[in-house]
Amino acid sequence: MKNESAGPSDTPESQLERWIEASGPHAFQAIVDLNVRGLGDTLDGPETGIQCLRCAKVTPVGICSNCGSTAFRFGLNTIVCARCGTGSASYKCECGCVNPVNFQTYRRKAKASSGGGCFIATAALGSASAPDTLILRDFRDRVLLRSTPGEAFIRLYYSVSPPVASLIGRSASLRWISRTLLVRPVALFARYWMT
Ligand SMILES: [Zn+2]
Ligand SMILES: [Zn+2]
Repeated sequence: MKNESAGPSDTPESQLERWIEASGPHAFQAIVDLNVRGLGDTLDGPETGIQCLRCAKVTPVGICSNCGSTAFRFGLNTIVCARCGTGSASYKCECGCVNPVNFQTYRRKAKASSGGGCFIATAALGSASAPDTLILRDFRDRVLLRSTPGEAFIRLYYSVSPPVASLIGRSASLRWISRTLLVRPVALFARYWMT
């Protein structure tokens, strides 16, 4: 049923890494904008859109024109219906511009509890699946998002962290500093708090 041509070792993470390599130094900002756990995630069509490269309007993915499902999967350059496998590699904007599906155009409606990664930890550790990143994500979902001040903090954090993460991602010394003085201590605290 699933429309996957990739082999079993072709994980979303390895696809993403290849994509970063191929896309060069500007890839990071696009990934920061992406706010998604990884390729291959199931996404909600009405909550997801493709942003026009010309006029910046976001066209929602919506529902599958073939089967009506709202569950989709995001690939490197397609969005594919998770139920029937119908896919789109481009979305036409109201302005007439036909936009490709990729990290530059993909947008997900910002939602604090959407399961997106921690931008700063991801930038500092160089991976969205590093153990510390996973602990911080867990801490956010299981502790912070269960309280009103915690939720407010996460909202604030997600609004200020993308440019900070982008800066960190570009500098090896900033990565080291944020890893050592920020991410590791906070992850240690989070691990202690949750056990
Ligand atoms: Zn447009
Ligand atoms: Zn479908």
